[in-house]
Order: sequence, then C-alpha cells, then structure tokens
Amino acid sequence: MINNHDAAVLPAEPAINREELVGRVRELARGAFLERAAHYDQAAEFPAEDMADLARAGLAAPTVPLEYGGLGLGPQCGDSYTLWMMTKELAKVDLSLARCWEGHANSLVILDALATPGQKARWFAGVVERGELWVAWSGEPQAPAPGEKSRFGTNLTKVDGGYIVDGTKVFCTSAGGARWAILLVSTAGPGGARHAGDDPESLLLMACDLADPSVSCDGSWWDPIGMRGTVSHLVKFDRTFIPDENLIGRPGEYLSQGWQTRFIPHYAAAFLGAAEGAYQFALDYVRTQNKVRDPYVQQHIGTMAVNVETGDLWLRHVAELWNRDPEEAKLAGSRARHVMEHLAEETVKLAIRTCGARSLNRPGILERIYRDLSFYVRHDNDDHNLAMIGKSILGQSYDASFYKP
Ligand SMILES: Cc1cc2nc3c(=O)[nH]c(=O)nc-3n(C[C@H](O)[C@H](O)[C@H](O)COP(=O)(O)OP(=O)(O)OC[C@H]3O[C@@H](n4cnc5c(N)ncnc54)[C@H](O)[C@@H]3O)c2cc1C
Repeated sequence: MINNHDAAVLPAEPAINREELVGRVRELARGAFLERAAHYDQAAEFPAEDMADLARAGLAAPTVPLEYGGLGLGPQCGDSYTLWMMTKELAKVDLSLARCWEGHANSLVILDALATPGQKARWFAGVVERGELWVAWSGEPQAPAPGEKSRFGTNLTKVDGGYIVDGTKVFCTSAGGARWAILLVSTAGPGGARHAGDDPESLLLMACDLADPSVSCDGSWWDPIGMRGTVSHLVKFDRTFIPDENLIGRPGEYLSQGWQTRFIPHYAAAFLGAAEGAYQFALDYVRTQNKVRDPYVQQHIGTMAVNVETGDLWLRHVAELWNRDPEEAKLAGSRARHVMEHLAEETVKLAIRTCGARSLNRPGILERIYRDLSFYVRHDNDDHNLAMIGKSILGQSYDASFYKP
C-alpha cells in the first residue's frame, strides 16, 4: 500500500512537520469537505467554506516561503511532494476544490519566482494575514465553438502609469471567490498564453485586484458536466486599469523560463487524487456487498491498486528531479501528467465497472469523480503533450508549457 509520505524526497531538516500538514488536510477533506462537496457541485458554487477552513487550519499560504510566513512548499522551496500530497487529499473528495487550491498555490509560486521583493511583501501579507486567494487566468480560446455567440479575448493599451485591459476571459477558476488574479495577457492581441501567437515577448503577467468595479463575472456561461464548483466563469474587464507596479516579471519571462512546467505535475497530483478516491470507493463497496471472491473484482482491485501506486511513484520521481535536475524535471512533469491522466481514467472506469450502475446514481462520490475527471483532463490536450515529448526526443523545437502544435 502507498505510504502517504516519504522523507527521502524532502529537504534534510524540514522546519515544518510535513507529514502532519498532509494529515491536517486529510482530516478536513474526509470530514467537512466531503460533506459539502455534493452541494458545491450541484449548485455550481465556489467552495468558500472549505477555503475558509483551510485558512483557519493555517494552510492558506502553502507555497509562500517561510520567511514571508508561509509553509514553504512547492518547486521553488524545494518540496513539491508535500504540496502535491495535500492537493491529492483534496482531490480525493472534491476535484473542484483541488483545482481552486492548486490554482492558488501555483499563483503564489509565480509570485515567489517573478515578483519583486516589494511586491512579495505586499501580496504575501494579504495571503498570510487575511487569507486572500489568488488565481492565474489565461483562457482566451480563439476558435469559436459551434453555436458560441461571443468571442473571447483581451486587448491591452499602454497608458500613463500602467495598462488598460479590455475584453473577456473564460475558464476563470475561482471567479467571485479569489481576491487577486494573475492575468496572462498579450500585447499582440487576444489569446492569453495558450492561444496567442508565437512571440513569447508579447506575454505579460499582471496582478489584477478583482474587487475593482471594472471587473465582473458572468456565470451564465458556466454549466459544465463537471468541475462545477471551480466556478470557472467568463470574466469581463471593462477597461480595467492595471498600474505598472502590478506588472510581474519581465515580458516573456513566464514562457522563456518555462514556469508553467512547474504546475503540470500538480495537475497530475489531482488526477491521482481522483484515482485514489475512486479506488477507495470501490474497495468499500465490494467489501460491503461481499463481492470480494469474484475473480473479475479481484483483478479490477489489483489493477486499481497498481495504478495509484504507479502515479505516486511518478510524482515522487518528478518531485525529486525538481531538486536535482530542473531541466529534466520540466519534461518529466509532462510525462507524469500523461501517465496519470490515463491511469486515473482507467481506475475510475474500473471502479464503475466493479460497483455497477447504482454507483452512478446522484449524488455519489464516484459519479462526481467520473464527471469531474472527464472535464479536468481537458485542461490541456494529451495528444499535444505526447507530441511534445516525441519532439523533445527527436530534437525538434517544442513548447513544454502549453504544448502548442
Ligand atoms: C476546469 C477547468 C478550469 C480551468 N481553469 C483555468 C484557469 O483558472 N486559468 C487558465 O488560464 N486556464 C484554465 N483552464 C484552461 C483552459 O483549459 C483552456 O483555456 C481551455 O481548455 C480551452 O478551451 P477548449 O478546450 O474548449 O478549446 P481549445 O483551446 O480550442 O481546445 C480544443 C482542442 O483544440 C486543440 N487546439 C487548440 N489550439 C489549437 C491549434 N492552434 N491547432 C490545433 N489544435 C488546437 C486543443 O489542444 C484541444 O484539443 C481551465 C480548464 C478547465 C477544464
């Protein structure tokens, strides 16, 4: 069975008991978060109470460095594995909550890496002292979906002392819940980071105070099959002014230094949580129904167990690489994401096959994991991920951040 933690991938003298941190998240997840998950899902509501509980438990600033009052986790601080195990515990009971948390944690990594000392002092204080939530928003898909009436995208205008952002973004996770968003926007026009042209220098990162009255959320756009509690709404920027002091890093730095690659294995950790949640559900189910002597059930349980163990081994490997060989880690994270997407989908399918039709009757954790995972894995395209891995082997140029063709 999987051990939830392994000191071998941790720094030699941890200042914080990391095992205890994961345990703290697990306790909350198995208790209040599991109880609330069905409501957040059905109502497509931001998991505000869960986030408040995490803050009350001293977990609001996972990736803020220790010297700023945070927990000092994540790839910047030399301990990705603990962070990913915390995310996994959340994902086991609520993948939407895990996405909101992982978006917050990833945004703080960006600040730690690219913000100035003055910006860090300002923004980390808000997180540590007031529990302010962050998120990063790129989503500006350019090719309209069939039947889609409006086009998405932002335009930037340089003005005295800052920029004007005008337009819309979609897939804005934690819309209405977060206080700050890191906007990934392009001086070349609509497209954000994923759908913009090829000039990396055109990509700017800017911190947007979401309390600004020029920013509004349109939830009518959001009625998905899963990940409903992420409230990844359409957000409108009505000539929002972003002062120069809120620009993060140098133009293009996010792409040239491959910062997105730090977050790709974090998605894999959430997928692993989905797999473990489904596996645990199936185990309990067949034991309760006493189907443990069925040879097919036994095989399914065996496959699921090996799948979650494989996912855990991959994450340990990538976490260790981030401390030893970051260039290798950038690619290994995408390999882990590929492997985990498939292992998680197989595990969920096997859990459904093992438990039968009643496990898909709402509300139930397995049917929710099934819906959520189907949607979450669309966050990036695994075909393009694999092509990127192939290109890296074949000596061709590739985009390890967003797998652009
Ligand atoms: C639950 C959820 C939450 C999210 N939250 C956030 C968030 O908070 N912040 C954020 O920045 N993003 C977020 N995203 C990312 C968001 O994934 C993308 O913006 C979104 O997936 C793009 O929408 P799409 O897949 O419908 O369309 P497309 O991007 O058009 O993709 C459709 C398909 O076309 C392919 N494709 C795209 N461009 C090309 C091209 N040029 N040539 C050939 N094929 C192409 C894609 O790989 C994909 O397979 C989130 C995604 C999900 C699922």
